Amino acid sequence: MKFFIKIFGCQYNEFDAVTLANELKFRGLVETNLDEADFVFVLNCSVRKTGVDRALGFIRNLENKKVFLSGCVLENDKERFAKKEVEFFSLENLNKKFNKKSPTPSHQLLTTSKYIPIMKGCNNFCSYCVVPYTRGREQSRKYDNVILDVKKAIKSGHREIWLLGQNVNSYRGTRSSCAVIPAEAGIQDSSHGSPGTTLKNTAGPEDDIFVGFTELLKKINELPGDFTIYFTSNHPKDMTDEIISAVANLPKIAKQIHLPVQSGSDKVLRSMNRPYTVSQYLKLVRKIKKEIPKVKITTDVIVGYPTETEDDFAKTVEVFKKVKYFQAYVNKYSPREGTAAHKLGDPIPWSEKQRRWRILNEIANKK
Ligand code: SF4
Repeated sequence: MKFFIKIFGCQYNEFDAVTLANELKFRGLVETNLDEADFVFVLNCSVRKTGVDRALGFIRNLENKKVFLSGCVLENDKERFAKKEVEFFSLENLNKKFNKKSPTPSHQLLTTSKYIPIMKGCNNFCSYCVVPYTRGREQSRKYDNVILDVKKAIKSGHREIWLLGQNVNSYRGTRSSCAVIPAEAGIQDSSHGSPGTTLKNTAGPEDDIFVGFTELLKKINELPGDFTIYFTSNHPKDMTDEIISAVANLPKIAKQIHLPVQSGSDKVLRSMNRPYTVSQYLKLVRKIKKEIPKVKITTDVIVGYPTETEDDFAKTVEVFKKVKYFQAYVNKYSPREGTAAHKLGDPIPWSEKQRRWRILNEIANKK
């Protein structure tokens, strides 16, 4: 039997695709192109409605294929997919469907970069975002397991290693004497404490301690080998001095920081439930640029958020001109059911979103 994997959305799905492909191959299936595939695995992204529409359009055009769906799927979207006779799956329940268990974690090299999830989910509930509903609350993987994955990646010859999560700079993994659990088994632990710290875990076993993101970066930097570490995504509120200093001073950490701004208007940021002001954000940018002179700052921004006036948009343009981003991911607002912003409707016409999108892209690409 032959399979084909179609990816929509973020690097998290790219990582899952690599894991899935290896798991399926282990079970005797052969990867092929779309035309020849008996099974089509779709890794969906529900972050924007247009993404879901694209996935549905893709599935609609498939004939005589058994289609499986996973990734980020909202409950409401599930109904739309179910009408297309799509079967839902998770990496954890592959065993039930294909009846043979993989003995080892098997997300090995299929791409030049290695993606290693260090946490998943999010606690921030930005008003426009479905992630807390589709991926759940923040859960950090055990520190020991992350280090093990990084060591394996280095040993396999990867030169570019990406630490992934919805909000990696709030990573809080536990370091313990417990048995090592592979990444496919899911993210095992949640933890608390301020970013960049190591705290004694009074609730857990005697030798469990919490490890923050800075310490994780330091440990990875100490590992022997020729590699560079990247990480994404971050929340500006969790970007501490310790993390900035680690990026500045650790030679194996890429001098690149993703710092999603989302809007240049305080009024819109409040409505988005983003807990920083534009002035705080710009102060953070100045600090990063001072500490890391050749840093590449990248960002995410939304245009056409329901309450964004022309004046609000002009403020975002100002931020873009001031920061001079290395790269910007400009997204046109798309209402998602179940989120707080959905109640605000979608009053800004598509053509106006397109105009604002074009303006920001022009500024971002003017190097
Ligand atoms: S921080 Fe990112 S993942 Fe979390 S709710 Fe906000 S936009 Fe979504």
